[in-house]
Amino acid sequence: MLGAARRSSPERSLVLIAGAGVAALEAMLALDNLAGERVRMELLAPTSEFVYRPLLVAAPFADEPPVRVPLGTLLAGKPVEHLEDGLAEVVPAAGAVRTTRGAERRFDALLIALGARPVEALAGALTFSGPADVEAYRALLRALEDGAVERLLFVVPPACGWALPLYELALLTAAHAFERRLAVELAFATHEPSALAAFGQHASRDVTTLLERHGIALRTGVSAVAAGERGVTLADGASIAADRVVALPRLEGPRLPGLPHDDDGFIPIDEHARVIGRERVYAAGDATTLPLKQGGLATQQADAAAAAIAADAGAPITPAPFRPVLRGLLLTGGEPLYLRSQAGGGAQERSLSGREPIWWPAGKIAGRYLTTYLAERAAVEVPEYVRRLAESVAARA
Ligand SMILES: Cc1cc2nc3c(=O)[nH]c(=O)nc-3n(C[C@H](O)[C@H](O)[C@H](O)COP(=O)(O)OP(=O)(O)OC[C@H]3O[C@@H](n4cnc5c(N)ncnc54)[C@H](O)[C@@H]3O)c2cc1C
Repeated sequence: MLGAARRSSPERSLVLIAGAGVAALEAMLALDNLAGERVRMELLAPTSEFVYRPLLVAAPFADEPPVRVPLGTLLAGKPVEHLEDGLAEVVPAAGAVRTTRGAERRFDALLIALGARPVEALAGALTFSGPADVEAYRALLRALEDGAVERLLFVVPPACGWALPLYELALLTAAHAFERRLAVELAFATHEPSALAAFGQHASRDVTTLLERHGIALRTGVSAVAAGERGVTLADGASIAADRVVALPRLEGPRLPGLPHDDDGFIPIDEHARVIGRERVYAAGDATTLPLKQGGLATQQADAAAAAIAADAGAPITPAPFRPVLRGLLLTGGEPLYLRSQAGGGAQERSLSGREPIWWPAGKIAGRYLTTYLAERAAVEVPEYVRRLAESVAARA
């Protein structure tokens, strides 16, 4: 039985951050900025590196490894201790957690930022989820180059959480094929009502035009149930022909003992990122019930949590609630497209898209603190080949 929590020291609150991804790092930076000496932080994560996933789609084309940054580089000089262990269970009443190695850690405030787990959504397709799939996509590009694959279909399944990377893979593949003058037929099938619908109607219109220009046939509002050597079967019994199919995974939440979760394991939070029904426990990012699983939104939730924690620790601020603004930078195989939408849908929707940056710094993960920090400490960049591809496609268009 774990005992009742005590503050770790009279002056400084102990903030335990579980995870070392986008939300965790943004929260660490925000807390350092907002609370300073009022808090000390521990980062509980069973990893020694940060994988920058937004550039994974470029890795198969660039013949470069996915971008990985040592955590040591990102945490150096910050008031945070890295505990290389995992979170196994939360015991909120005791103000403590149990780790996967069986240790007990206490907290004054806890932020859960464990992300989500990708699960194959379409059996028979190449599921593009993370660094482990880059080599398989490279092999697929070689098959396109050799003529072994002539018709390639990209599928966004329901519950995938974040569709943008598949649009990028399709557009980059079209540019790659264009540059090599390969005779391939590309098609894109999504369950969304329109292309990248989360960004609103202006963005959807521009992305649809872009797909057309790249010769990618788009079908929206379709639900693929299985993939095979001849293509995919749809929920209504129809089919789409293809030699190979590439799909995104669906995501599952961490289903963490001690915390509430929905049927898929995701954690419910309020607008200050407080876990519903749990004192001093916060959650941010893909692990929460927010349907869109996106890095920029993860940073905004992390900022809301950090502000609430900092205020509790005595910082003279009024914590701002989470008010999502969706920002996405689409790699297109030509000039990138910047997309932004706020309070999506209906008359309230404010949807923008354009070739010029509409936020700054214009990183692929738009976070108040993290974008600049990653640019300074890790020089995260679009690989040279993908930039050259864009230039050569623009020169020939
Ligand atoms: C191919 C691809 C492209 C993407 N492109 C973009 C993009 O262009 N822009 C954008 O904004 N978003 C993009 N995303 C989405 C973005 O990467 C995620 O939304 C974001 O990483 C979520 O942040 P997070 O902190 O919630 O989770 P993550 O970044 O996944 O971090 C989770 C952390 O928790 C740790 N962890 C896991 N289990 C435990 C445990 N039990 N105990 C302790 N730690 C644990 C992990 O090691 C990791 O450090 C992309 C995603 C993919 C897959």
